[in-house]
Parts: sequence; C-alpha cells; structure tokens
Amino acid sequence: MSAKYVFVTGGVVSSLGKGLAAASIGCLLESRGLRVNLMKFDPYLNVDPGTMSPFQHGEVFVTDDGAETDLDLGHYERFTHAPLSRDNNLTTGRIYEQIILKERRGDYLGKTVQVIPHVTNEIKNAMRKVSANGADVTIVEIGGTVGDIESLPFLEAIRQMRQELGRENTVFVHLTLVPWIAAAQELKTKPTQHSVKELLSIGIQADILLCRADVNLSREIKQKIAAFCNVEERAVIGATTVPSIYQVPLNFAEEGLDGLILKYLHKEAPEADLSRWKDLAHRYANPKDEVKIGIVGKYVEYEDSYKSLKEALTHGALAENLKLNITWIESEGLESESPDDRSYESQLEGFDGILVPGGFGKRGIEGMLNAIRYAREKHVPYFGICLGMQTACIEFARNVCGLKEANSSEFDPSTPHRVIYKLRELLGVEEMGGTMRLGAWTCILTPETLASKIYNNETEISERHRHRYEFNREYEALLTGAGLRISGTTPDATYVEIVEIPGHPFFIGCQFHPEFKSKPLEPHPLFHSFIAASYKNRQTDSAKQVANKTTSARS
Ligand code: GLN
Repeated sequence: MSAKYVFVTGGVVSSLGKGLAAASIGCLLESRGLRVNLMKFDPYLNVDPGTMSPFQHGEVFVTDDGAETDLDLGHYERFTHAPLSRDNNLTTGRIYEQIILKERRGDYLGKTVQVIPHVTNEIKNAMRKVSANGADVTIVEIGGTVGDIESLPFLEAIRQMRQELGRENTVFVHLTLVPWIAAAQELKTKPTQHSVKELLSIGIQADILLCRADVNLSREIKQKIAAFCNVEERAVIGATTVPSIYQVPLNFAEEGLDGLILKYLHKEAPEADLSRWKDLAHRYANPKDEVKIGIVGKYVEYEDSYKSLKEALTHGALAENLKLNITWIESEGLESESPDDRSYESQLEGFDGILVPGGFGKRGIEGMLNAIRYAREKHVPYFGICLGMQTACIEFARNVCGLKEANSSEFDPSTPHRVIYKLRELLGVEEMGGTMRLGAWTCILTPETLASKIYNNETEISERHRHRYEFNREYEALLTGAGLRISGTTPDATYVEIVEIPGHPFFIGCQFHPEFKSKPLEPHPLFHSFIAASYKNRQTDSAKQVANKTTSARS
C-alpha cells in the first residue's frame, strides 16, 4: 500500500495556527483508528531552534531523542500519539547542512549541486523517512507563508510528491484568512483568492481550504470561495475562532474535514470517536471554580516561550474541572534591597500555587529565590521545573542550611558553595560549546515520597531534559540533613532528578521538563497534583478568611 500524505501550507499572514490545524487533522485521523505521523519543515536557515531567542521563536520543544524543535511539535504530541524525533522537524539550515556534508564527501561525484533536484530530493527523502515509520497518513506542515522566497524548495518538493504519488495519495490543505471588514460589514474573500492563486503559480492547486475567520462562513461565502479558488464547496472549511484550542478538532469534524480528507485519499476508516474531546471542551466551558497560579520567571511577557508549560497547567486544571488563572511575574521585580527587605511579598500574595519554570542566565535569579522562600515558608504549593528546581536547592542551602553564598556556577562561577554545577566541569572533562543533557532520561523514584505517590508508586519513569547544570551531590548530606528529600535520581545515581520537602503541602523541584509530556487527555501527574494541591490551598485559604470574618464579627 502506498504512503499517503496531507500537506498543510499557509497563506495571507503568519500566526493563523497552522501547527494547531495540522495537529487537529492528526487528532481526527487518529480518532478514526489510523496511525498518523506529523512533521514540520521550517524555511529559516538556523540548523535548529535550540539557539534561537525565545522572543523571536517561542519555546524550544524537546523530543525523547533530545531534538530541540519548533513548538508546533508540541501541538502534534499533545493532539496525537505520533512518534516524534529529530526527523520530524527540519529546517532549511539542516537540509543544506546535510547536502554540503555530502558534497564535501564527494557523494555527488562532481556533479553540479542544485536546488532542484538536490535540495528537493533531500526534502522528499525526509518525508519518506517519516512516513516509512509505520504511518497510515503523514501530515507535513510547511512553515512560513506562501509567497516567501525561502519556502519555495519545500513547495516544489510537495508538488513533486503529488506528481509521483498521484491524487489518491496526496491532499493539499491550505490555511488562509477571511477577514471581517467592519466598514463594509462583510467577510472578504480576496486575500484567500490571491493566496490560492500564488500557490497555483508554483503548480499546486489547493484541495481543501481552511478559512480562519472570526465569524461563521455563510453558505454564500463558501460558494464564492469555492468558485474562485477552484475547490469543492464542501472543501471550504470554516476555521472559526474558538474559545479553546481543544475545540479545534471538534469544529473541523463538524465541518466534515476528516471525512473529506479520507475521501480524497481513497481511504476507508471508521467514524471518529470524539467523546473524550467533547467532554474536555465541556469541562473547559463549565469550570466548577478557578485556581490562581503565579509563574515567576524571565521572558514572561512573551507567553509563547512557555507554551508547553501553560498547556500542561491547563491540562492539570481541566482534570480538576477548574479554570486556570495564570499571572506571569517578572522575577527581576521581586528582588530585594537587603536580606530583611520583604517588600516583594505583596506581589506574591493571593496565589494558590507558585511555579518557577526553566530558564537560562543570571538575570532575575534573586527574585526567583525570594519567591521560593515565600512559598516554602508560607506553605504555598511550589513547583520548580529545571531552573526552578536548581533555584529551590540554592534557596534551601542559603536560608535553611545557612550557606549564604550558595549558588549555581552558572550565575556565579567563583561561588564557594556551588550547590548547582556542571558535573563534567568538576571532573575536569573538556566541555563542548553548548553541551546539554537533552531528551529522555530514566529516573528511579524513591519509595514513600510525594514524587513516588504522584507517579502512582511507579519506580521507574522517563522524562525529558534540556539543561547543562546539575545538583552537586557533595552538598546532599547537608541539605537532606536539614530536611530536603531527594526523591528521584538517574539509575546510576549520578544525577539528582527530583527534590521535595516533606511536611510542606506541595514542594517539588524536578530537573526535567514534565510539561513536554503532558497531553490534554493524559494530563501529566506532576501538573495534575500541583493544581490539586494549589486548589486545596485555595479552599483552606478561603476557609480561613471565612473563619477570620466570623471571629471579627463576633468580637
Ligand atoms: N540554566 C539551567 C541549566 O542549564 C537550567 C536550564 C533549564 O531550566 N532548562 O542547567
């Protein structure tokens, strides 16, 4: 049986949610019992997003095999069970890197190396490799917007794929914008027409149009778009703005998108069972209460840099039928003038739980330490992820164990107490430029700990990493003697993976990034339990307030 592909391109403007659209198509096909795989081509020249600024690029998503990828792969994983690896996200930079390597090796036997066929062949091979991984349907997202110079080789490659595989094995889905023009009180189809024409000029006739619009598309609008863009009327799919992203697959299903894709691909599959997605959307729309989480970090003004984190917290909240209320707190604003200056506390009051996420560099660290101290002392649920675990250990060493100068060698290379350090640095091993501990690592949980309880008494788990620094086990005896508990390590006990404080309602720091493995239908246990603990704290707090009011009314 021949491999089948859905190619997703975008037109008119960027940021229309192409990644989410691709992920939702994957979700629908998977709900019909098909095995899907998804991949993304990014037209920029960086080899991977690992070193790109979070301001420009948003979050760096990490797969099990340790690839640093585009955040759209996060959507793919949250909406499907596709097995993603470094093969599933390729940039122009990576493609050229491979080609130049081959050229230097003499693989091209002295022939002239050109965009067509060499670059396009490399792109097509990458698609075939992913599809050969057992997928019934492979969904390929082409980053950027049609009309960009840098997307051309990718579009040419998918055009050739259609030529080679035929109509019954390939579908072109194009995402466009149908803007509402207030002055005319009308939806405008012209940008869509232009975008489809642009695609056609490079030999690709779109089969299905996903039309992003703030209001529903009327029958007339659909007919007009169909007529001008040369697609079936039912292939004009309204991709209306929805209250939550979990609604997107449901909306597409209502518009008949999955059935149409399967028809074009000549593929039979049972009807989709979307009951769990419907239940999720229902819970999103009907929360029993809210939970307020304060996230203390850097780059908080740019939420895309913490995409998976926000999603994972939402999954936890949905599992408890709560509305998630996040406040992003810039940690630099929590720094204090002197050790006795606690004026920052007013900014931390009223949160049911506090979280310090991953991050790099010295800026804002002192503010994070203050936030952690507050959470530890006031018994507010605390969840520290990666940097948030490292800072939790530093805070504990400083304020509980009295090592006032405790630090990470990342922030102060000459600190006398490097509680957090690079292991290889200590061993005198030469460090390569940006070497990080990346991807999936096994962690052994200590029985009878909060962590073990959260993971349902499992003894061995696997979580994803992206960091350079580690907990320094030379300080273990001192810290654990003062009440910190190590609740997870690597199997060889080299690396500390989880710490907690017994007796605190919820104080957990983990060296890995659990947010990368949370799915809406399979919320990660750490996020779920953090939200549950935070909500419990909220209820205790409101009970206290009621009690206080009653007492003051009586007195
Ligand atoms: N900067 C820290 C390190 O490199 C933490 C990294 C992170 O939070 N992802 O170890």
